[in-house]
Amino acid sequence: MFQINENYLKLPGSYLFSTVGKKEREYAAANPNKKVIRLSIGDVTQPLAPVIIDALHGAVDEMGKAETFRGYGPDLGYEFLRTAIAENDYRARGCDIAADEIFISDGAKSDSGNIQEIFGPDNKIAVCDPVYPVYVDTNVMAGRTGVYDAARETWSDVIYMPCTQENGFAPLLPKQTPDIIYLCFPNNPTGSAVTKARLQEWVDYANKTGAVIIYDAAYEAYISEPDVPHSIYECRGARECAIELRSFSKNAGFTGTRLGFTVIPKEIKSGDISLHSLWARRHGTKFNGAPYIIQRAGEACYTAEGKAQLKEQIDYYMRNAKYISEGLKSAGYFVSGGVNAPYIWLKTPNQMSSWKFFDYLLETANVVGTPGSGFGPSGEGYFRLTAFGSYENTVEAIERIKKL
Ligand code: PLP
Repeated sequence: MFQINENYLKLPGSYLFSTVGKKEREYAAANPNKKVIRLSIGDVTQPLAPVIIDALHGAVDEMGKAETFRGYGPDLGYEFLRTAIAENDYRARGCDIAADEIFISDGAKSDSGNIQEIFGPDNKIAVCDPVYPVYVDTNVMAGRTGVYDAARETWSDVIYMPCTQENGFAPLLPKQTPDIIYLCFPNNPTGSAVTKARLQEWVDYANKTGAVIIYDAAYEAYISEPDVPHSIYECRGARECAIELRSFSKNAGFTGTRLGFTVIPKEIKSGDISLHSLWARRHGTKFNGAPYIIQRAGEACYTAEGKAQLKEQIDYYMRNAKYISEGLKSAGYFVSGGVNAPYIWLKTPNQMSSWKFFDYLLETANVVGTPGSGFGPSGEGYFRLTAFGSYENTVEAIERIKKL
């Protein structure tokens, strides 16, 4: 008789965004005459840039001719894309990353969920609180998180690093020493970012304690301030301790197209075993490559034309972010984020709980956001709005909130 992985049974409740979506659908069905505006889920709304569409068409045509048809690609990604990434995302910023340290994938969700597989079961993980839920849930599935405390909404074997108004929503170094540290900057959900000097402290800490940092830089393209690093490899010593995850979803609109990558420098080792070799083994065994046509589309993002078109999209979303941020501030809300990230993190008024504010906003302004408590206990009393909507809808939503 087969047995299941009982760790799955430990996962509490339903996934945050399913609950948000369900409540929104129920409200819309019961109020068909109301225009509900979603500033909730972190999905882009702008169509793919023309340069990407051209690259896709070109690659599709290649697939239709025997001479240029491609079957299985290289497990770890096509050289043309790995080289473009190494040159543009890293070397151009002074980061010493080689093309063969880049592993192409179908996105940062898979990579951030799968990466824990190459670590032993007894590693202690540290996460920001609030946090992108994938890091914790995938460690639960692997049996690494201990016992769940439903009242506190925490796991006994996870080190939580609170991100609060007091610390500017950037965690302090933990008191208990972790083995694996998940960091995400610019941050989802708080929209916070850290300076290079602050990130250097984390790299130094990891190297001192023998921890590895899993650095999720999915929102790197939204950075606007000069002292915020775009990659952890801008910090000294990061090649010895940091894995970086990147995505084409938020900088280039690939949420439905799927493309991302993970960087593992060859220096990160446990004894004489490199994490690079383990991930190469894992990727080669369990992943058969991102589609050729999508990798060609990814390559197009790095052309001069591609960079200009993507910048326009980022500017569009960041105009929304500014509108949300300034509008809410003028209405008396405490607001954070929205400067280096497409997320605005606001404090709920009158000490309302995050879910109470969710219902209130849905019912009175017909605006959907995401309750901060869904990302972790320190998110209670906060609420996330995203800048990914259309400008018109964003303006309408904020004007409605201002009138409450
Ligand atoms: N990492 C973070 C922090 C995210 O917020 C998201 C998506 O919202 C992802 C990863 C997933 O990215 P991808 O679309 O590449 O799977």
